[in-house]
Amino acid sequence: MAKTPPGKNPIVDQCLGCENIEGEFCRIWAVPAAKWRLGPCPSATHVRIDTKEPAEKVRVGQQKQKKK
Ligand code: SF4
Repeated sequence: MAKTPPGKNPIVDQCLGCENIEGEFCRIWAVPAAKWRLGPCPSATHVRIDTKEPAEKVRVGQQKQKKK
């Protein structure tokens, strides 16, 4: 059984993919759920904050030409 560090809460679903995960816990924050309650975790390595996705991926299926 893994030891639970005192005062630490396990990571939450939103943490998955983050490089700060150590086992079932966060290397930085004791209570990961609290970091996500107010929005994206400020230390997350897998989410981009302040990056608004440009609306680009629109051109799909325009290049296919039917040959008969
Ligand atoms: S840094 Fe944030 S997102 Fe990453 S594991 Fe810790 S609480 Fe989760």
